[in-house]
Amino acid sequence: MKAIRVHEFGESDVMKLEEVPDLIAGEGQVVVQVSAAGVNPVDTYIRAGTYAVKPDLPFTPGMDGAGTVSSIGSGVDNVSVGDRVYVAGTLSGAYAEQALCSAGQVHALPDNISFSQGAGIFVAYATAYRGLFQRAKGVAGETVLVHGASGGVGTAAVQLARAAGLTVIGTAGSERGRGLVADQGAHHALDHHDPGYLQEIMDITNGVGVNVILEMLANENLGKDLPLLAHGGRVVVIGSRGNVEINPRDTMAKDASIMGMVLLIAPEEDLAGIHAGLYAGLANGSLNPVVGQEIAIGDASKAHEAVMAPGAYGKIVLAV
Ligand code: NAP
Repeated sequence: MKAIRVHEFGESDVMKLEEVPDLIAGEGQVVVQVSAAGVNPVDTYIRAGTYAVKPDLPFTPGMDGAGTVSSIGSGVDNVSVGDRVYVAGTLSGAYAEQALCSAGQVHALPDNISFSQGAGIFVAYATAYRGLFQRAKGVAGETVLVHGASGGVGTAAVQLARAAGLTVIGTAGSERGRGLVADQGAHHALDHHDPGYLQEIMDITNGVGVNVILEMLANENLGKDLPLLAHGGRVVVIGSRGNVEINPRDTMAKDASIMGMVLLIAPEEDLAGIHAGLYAGLANGSLNPVVGQEIAIGDASKAHEAVMAPGAYGKIVLAV
């Protein structure tokens, strides 16, 4: 089978499409015939060797994918050969024709969701779900600012928040992105490059502020986020690419909280709740992953450049 292999950390051209041996499912394992693999910013940090956890070389990148179960090992009872699935991480890497997974990493894909869309479920939707519901404990009637709503996590967050009855303010840097954010259900789509947009958020909330902020670029925005919070407001730091200065006083008089999260350390019982919630939303149509770009797996380097470029539009997936 063919797989992207990385033999040394570096720029996107270290990813090469190579012929590698077929995978065999051991006890408690599943082999998925991958139809599409999802591309996430974290894949680029891992490929570059700048992520906190470095895989042993050589390796196949990718945590997201969707396809069909092609074989199962002994003791696997949650899926059968032929089932349509999405993966939540893999043991062998998702940028490949086959992915070896533990049984717990494989989840049913509703029939109404395509494989390309399925490749955009785990990292984006599980992060948005965990941030909004499990960390910030957002509830119907509250207002959420999805600060960076045009990309993978952001579009997922807008759909989840809208379906759950929150008032949704989303931001994007391009006009096309703002159109997408509005189409996903945001009540207000603002430009995070517009000098007046922070005041606009306060005006939308009649000066009260927002209850929850899901922050995709905390190094840019955390200092600006805190004055936007209502009393008891919560900021969830989802993405950050550097340092930032904040005024801690902005949290004090509001009983405000800044909370971090990393999806990959979420406890198993929390993940089980996330997957159940996502399945329900995907099956009933309130969640509908947006595939903005589909790129052939042999051009994975182009996909890594695209996912780090401005002007996000949903998910980028690799056609396998
Ligand atoms: P993505 O698809 O590349 O989207 C990036 C988003 O950030 C876009 O909406 C982009 O908007 C927005 N953005 C760019 N400049 C911004 C600014 N100045 N203010 C606010 N937003 C801005 O990436 P993603 O998959 O959604 O992930 C978003 C971030 O979360 C990444 O840093 C990723 O590494 C991180 N992440 C963390 C976890 C975790 O477990 N903590 C999980 C998944 C992702 P425009 O392009 O329209 O300007």
